[in-house]
Amino acid sequence: MRIDILTLFPEMCERVLSESIVGRAAAKGIVTFGCHNIRDYTLDKHNRVDDAPYGGGMGMVMQAEPIDRAIQAVSKGCEERPYVIYLSPQGKTLTQQKALELSHMKHLVLLCGHYEGVDERVLEQDVDEELSIGDYVLTGGELPALVLADCITRLLPGALSDAICFEEESHFSGLLEYPQYTRPVEWNGRRVPDVLLSGHHANISAWRHEQALERTRQKRPDLFEKYQETEKKP
Ligand code: SAM
Repeated sequence: MRIDILTLFPEMCERVLSESIVGRAAAKGIVTFGCHNIRDYTLDKHNRVDDAPYGGGMGMVMQAEPIDRAIQAVSKGCEERPYVIYLSPQGKTLTQQKALELSHMKHLVLLCGHYEGVDERVLEQDVDEELSIGDYVLTGGELPALVLADCITRLLPGALSDAICFEEESHFSGLLEYPQYTRPVEWNGRRVPDVLLSGHHANISAWRHEQALERTRQKRPDLFEKYQETEKKP
């Protein structure tokens, strides 16, 4: 898979994407990242990417032309047009399901806005989908783009040691994950549940499922309700 990020801060993105599991996936060739500075696609000598909003008001707006040129540049020579996502607080909220769906795509372009946002016309012309990472406003789209790139990369075959690593995790099946413990067996008077020390795989599995149900019910009743509804469906 290829993920191109269009940003005013490519170094910030490169740094994050070179670390940990995501960085190792890139080193193994499971994913290829390109971080592109939108300023490189300006036509004026000052490399200006923003201007004042028509109609007045506070702040600046990112201009359409450099963004469109950046999208055209990263699409050039590709067999298929990439799927272009604008990270925006106005988009649908990112979910594990959406990340899984996007992980099957060959080429994604992630557009990071700044200031008051982006000229609407380039969104209408070039963007396939807007995604938000939550109902709050950040200064730029870089952190949301990195969240999305991380979330997708760990779902790609070979990025984690086994698909089971994410299949049992929170949100994959609609439940939160069961509690996790590691050595020592006893810490500050708190013991690891006996079943986990039993070596009985069926019992461990049943206990974990019970725990996942219970903690979803307690911590996220909204998810629990949805899970129950989908379980009821034939
Ligand atoms: N004026 C815009 C509005 O009210 O919808 C907000 C602009 S925000 C200050 C600047 C940029 O940060 C946006 O263009 C977007 O790329 C990014 N951004 C901010 N919050 C975000 C969120 N929750 N999810 C995804 N992107 C976000």
